[in-house]
Amino acid sequence: MEILTVRTDKRDQFVNITAQVQEVVRQQGISSGICVVFVPHTTAGVTINENADSDVVRDIIYELDKGIPWQDGYRHGEGNSAAHIKASLMGSAVTVIIEEGRLQLGTWQGIYFAEFDGPRQRKAYVKVLK
Ligand code: ZN
Repeated sequence: MEILTVRTDKRDQFVNITAQVQEVVRQQGISSGICVVFVPHTTAGVTINENADSDVVRDIIYELDKGIPWQDGYRHGEGNSAAHIKASLMGSAVTVIIEEGRLQLGTWQGIYFAEFDGPRQRKAYVKVLK
């Protein structure tokens, strides 16, 4: 397993980690297999979405924030329930097929670390399997 370090500088932020994940795949020299990216946090997640128009990521964050406001009479004492909810909606892991040593993402797909309670220094685990 490889551990990527992800530094975020906003409360809600999508960080494109595709290149780092692809680099782990390259280093491990596995030409055909699967790659799992797992985020070991409760207020951040991981998702795959459009990498071409940054407005897509902006719109996802905007709509999540509109639907799940930061303050809404939540009970969780830490005060970051919105981040927990958004993280669950995104999920904690993505799986991508590897062929010829390359992640088989669609042309417009990128892997995004999804921060919902930043800024923080975060981790993403990457496991490559034959
Ligand atoms: Zn909390």
